[in-house]
Amino acid sequence: MKIFKSRIINILIIFGFGLIPALVCQFFVQAPTDRYIHVRSFRYGKDPSVIRVNRGDKLHLTFSTDDTGHSFFLEEFDIDAKISPARDKVEVFKTSDPTQKSYITKELTFTAKHPGILNYLVAKSNYRCHVWCGPMHAFELGKLIILPNTLLAFSLGCVFGILFLWILSLFSAASNFSIEEDKNAGYKDLLKKSGFLRKIIVSRWPQTILLIIAMTMIYIVILTSVFGTNMAGRNLGVLMMWAIWLFLLVAILTPLFGRVWCTVCPLPFFGDLLQRRSNFTPVDGKTKEYNNWYSGLFLKWPAKLQNDLLKLIVFLVIATFSTTLVADPKVSGITVIMLLLVPTLMAGIWEFRAFCRYICPVSAFVGPFSRMSTLALRSKSQQVCDRCKPHYCQKGSTEGWACPYGLNVGEIKENSDCGLCLECTRSCMYNNITLYSRPLGSELGTRNLSEAWLTMAVFTLSIIYSVLYEGQWPVVRDFVNILDKQNWDLFGIYAIIVWTLSLVIIPGIVYLLSYTGAKSSKTQRSIKEVFLASSGALLPLGFALWIAFVIPMLFVNVTFITQSISDPFGWGWDFFGTANIPWHQFVPRLVPWLQAGLVLTGLWFSLRNLKKSFESDKLTPRQLFLITLPMCVFLSAIAITMIIFYTN
Ligand code: SF4
Ligand code: SF4
Ligand code: SF4
Repeated sequence: MKIFKSRIINILIIFGFGLIPALVCQFFVQAPTDRYIHVRSFRYGKDPSVIRVNRGDKLHLTFSTDDTGHSFFLEEFDIDAKISPARDKVEVFKTSDPTQKSYITKELTFTAKHPGILNYLVAKSNYRCHVWCGPMHAFELGKLIILPNTLLAFSLGCVFGILFLWILSLFSAASNFSIEEDKNAGYKDLLKKSGFLRKIIVSRWPQTILLIIAMTMIYIVILTSVFGTNMAGRNLGVLMMWAIWLFLLVAILTPLFGRVWCTVCPLPFFGDLLQRRSNFTPVDGKTKEYNNWYSGLFLKWPAKLQNDLLKLIVFLVIATFSTTLVADPKVSGITVIMLLLVPTLMAGIWEFRAFCRYICPVSAFVGPFSRMSTLALRSKSQQVCDRCKPHYCQKGSTEGWACPYGLNVGEIKENSDCGLCLECTRSCMYNNITLYSRPLGSELGTRNLSEAWLTMAVFTLSIIYSVLYEGQWPVVRDFVNILDKQNWDLFGIYAIIVWTLSLVIIPGIVYLLSYTGAKSSKTQRSIKEVFLASSGALLPLGFALWIAFVIPMLFVNVTFITQSISDPFGWGWDFFGTANIPWHQFVPRLVPWLQAGLVLTGLWFSLRNLKKSFESDKLTPRQLFLITLPMCVFLSAIAITMIIFYTN
């Protein structure tokens, strides 16, 4: 109750900080005027890419195109103006009902005004293209900003509210910024009371059924990506992967359940089957030090590569080509086929899930971010594990296979390495394994340099992806366009920027900030320890930025998903009568608010974890302030920049 009360007070204080500028900016509305703007469309952008007007301004828009047909799709104002290269007039449709009679005009006029209270709350709308104009058509967008920008003012005020509370917490013993003091406080055994839930977890059937469903989905993705339409926005495989699955993975599964995707992931299925020769009861026998019989060469993975380095490289390679993957369904499909083949081949050579542990690009994401999750698999009693000699969880037993990730549950302190395959819940003969629910963002710091680098890379990519996919700058699209423009030279520069930022610049900045904090605070910790602790503080904000990035990926495409379900290959089918429904985005006016809220929440948790990472050092408040200040400035600067990006 006390914690709940203090949370409410904190939220009210932060809101208070936000409300002041949000109200003040309402007094700076300029008198409405007429604005005459010419919008030029081209593959893949609009010029101007940002239209900034005042509330109530009357807009007079004229259009032209440099190449093929485009459209000016502005759903919040019920406008879809089709632009043709052959004429200087546009045909204007209603986005709410495109079957209504259209009209042709040379100049499109409308007032920059929303109905009712929305007039004060909505400042940003994206104008997009709704005529397929090439493989990167989905990236063609610009933004209309109506001033004053209440959301921007409110969010920036909230940032200062968070900083105020954070600084107060450093100097106040009675602070409530850190919600849980004890490291394991808030862990609740989910299986303690529910025998039914335990049965579901331990039984192999529910997991196998979910796995078969996931496998079926993967085959649909492969078939529709490879044989379906080239229009990515109408290809079911592309939409299933990059809109639905990515959203579920990033915004729901990982924050709530950690690596639960790995529980049902079909990628290692055939490899497991190859090694185990059974999906159910373990085969009796001995393989090396393990209590199960495995086939295949079952070689040890090279010791020098037993870290996150390879998966970081694979993750960055996929990230570098991400726009090609999203824009070209065939490339997407072939990548998925490779992701099925490689783990299977590797399982014939190396022991257990070598692919999952050292290569998988998905685990490069879910590994670090599962540390934020509200679910954790751990032992029930540490004493039982300490006394346990056979280590069934790690070595296997007659009831369950050895941990495919090589873990001894008694030693697990963090979520990153455990693939939540649930095998140990079957193999532990002492029934000493359970699932805990716990507060969000409970794990602090990073354990070693490779984990720190991985964390910083996924953090950096959340920003790069946002800029690439939601930035209005057409020049950015040119840098990644190797599909129809074949800009390989620009792409090379882009790749260098992505890799340097992820591996050198951001880690370098975090190292410098850690060095400054360590030196100024005169802490006993080494610079490396401060660096590892500080890099962990990037996780919450990074995670929030990832969620903010995937929200529009799904919300913009909801109706395209419905269309593609009726016509999965884009071959003119209409199974459910939804193949030709008009395009509507899901709550477009709400998206900037959600994104700003996520950034603020991420900043809050990042600052909280930053502070908690050093609290056990028994530093004076001044030392604590000095050691955390550089990272705090960095995190706040990123949060402010991203708030401006998402809302303005
Ligand atoms: S680590 Fe990768 S391949 Fe392995 S189960 Fe998880 S997501 Fe699937
Ligand atoms: S989890 Fe079970 S098998 Fe593993 S160490 Fe603990 S008691 Fe032993
Ligand atoms: S500790 Fe190992 S066996 Fe247990 S759920 Fe995690 S990965 Fe699976």
